[in-house]
Amino acid sequence: MINNVLKDKVLEQIDPEAVVDLTARLVRCNSVWDPKAGTSEAEAAALTARWAKDRGFSVSMEAVAPDRPNVIVRWAFGPGPRTLMFEGHTDVVTPGDLTRWRYDPFGAKIEKGRMFGRGTNDTKGNLAAMLVAMAALKASNIPLTGSMVGGILCDEEGMMTGVQHFIAQGHADRVTAAVICEPQDGLVCIAQKGAVRARFAVKGRMSHGAMPLSGINPAAAVARIIDGLAGLEAEAVRAFGQDPLLGWPSFTPTVVQAPSQGPPQLNVMPGEAEILVDVRTIPGQRHDAIREALGDLAQQTVRDVNDRYRETDRQLGIQRPWELDVAVEFLSDRPCTRTEENEPVIAAAVWASRQVSGRKPDFAGVPGATDGTFLWALKDIPIVTMGAGDRQVPHQADEWVDLDQLVDTARIYALTALHYLYAGDTR
Ligand SMILES: [Zn+2]
Repeated sequence: MINNVLKDKVLEQIDPEAVVDLTARLVRCNSVWDPKAGTSEAEAAALTARWAKDRGFSVSMEAVAPDRPNVIVRWAFGPGPRTLMFEGHTDVVTPGDLTRWRYDPFGAKIEKGRMFGRGTNDTKGNLAAMLVAMAALKASNIPLTGSMVGGILCDEEGMMTGVQHFIAQGHADRVTAAVICEPQDGLVCIAQKGAVRARFAVKGRMSHGAMPLSGINPAAAVARIIDGLAGLEAEAVRAFGQDPLLGWPSFTPTVVQAPSQGPPQLNVMPGEAEILVDVRTIPGQRHDAIREALGDLAQQTVRDVNDRYRETDRQLGIQRPWELDVAVEFLSDRPCTRTEENEPVIAAAVWASRQVSGRKPDFAGVPGATDGTFLWALKDIPIVTMGAGDRQVPHQADEWVDLDQLVDTARIYALTALHYLYAGDTR
């Protein structure tokens, strides 16, 4: 067993001030990806690289795209089969409407034990906690085996090109487990929902609102598709039920737009419409079957709506020579993930959480995808997602993190690595 002496040797290396200070410095780097405004992950990435270099880590920086670097921080304790990865992203989402903020989104203001600002919660606080944890374990001089890798990645909030680049460069090849540092409020998350995102493009024919028979209105198809999505959702709920960690599957139309482009006008019947669909999946659902069902919905819609228009034409004694069309295009596909509870990294995370909080942590699921999705799906790496921060707060105005919880998170990360890489008699 890992005794209290070892545990304390690690914990005494965690300096709460260092966690708070590094978080604040990261929050003050505006790392919203916004080429027009000239902001990117570059400054936050450089800061982490300097910080890790100063503590003796081997550090490399790789450009995923211009101004969008990944930082890779490594430390090898000694020969051993295990490599534990910590992953945290440097990008943040836009603060949005600044009038809705009471605090400067990039000010890192501390009030009553909370730090406020974009990224305090998602996920610069946890990124700082993971770096402090890695440095603490390194400085503890405990004989461990294997290695630690910190993946400080760009573009998690966008297309997740940072983690895909990290994998393509071979950095994940020897990783045997990963801790995904995201705000999960102290929960140990072992599952993540999957996602299929699609665009339905409806093509009719534009006309004057007073002369609808000189066009084909895409609205009927829009209604049919939305109704069909509700039917697919009900079917999935019936067939797959509620996952104990992830909840229900869903087929959500999130954007419904007609015309697809340009300004709408009351007396213009639009020629085109667009529906974006965000499908979220749980274990058991097959993504290829979902794609097929969405394709079938498009075809069925074309048949139904054109039949109805022909019937109208017949009743009115006219003939419109145009047909409506629906195309479906898939924008992204991310599988759901599930790490077995008996994986060593889960045992390590549970043990570490218990040492710090004094109680067994709850298992939970992540409603969205993270960079961990790719590590799990493409490299078969067992992942656990955990970190400080209320789970509802990401992407909101006045985003905040509780600083006591954040410092505890650094302790949990460090002890997770200690347990996972300890060569004693624990395995
Ligand atoms: Zn995040």
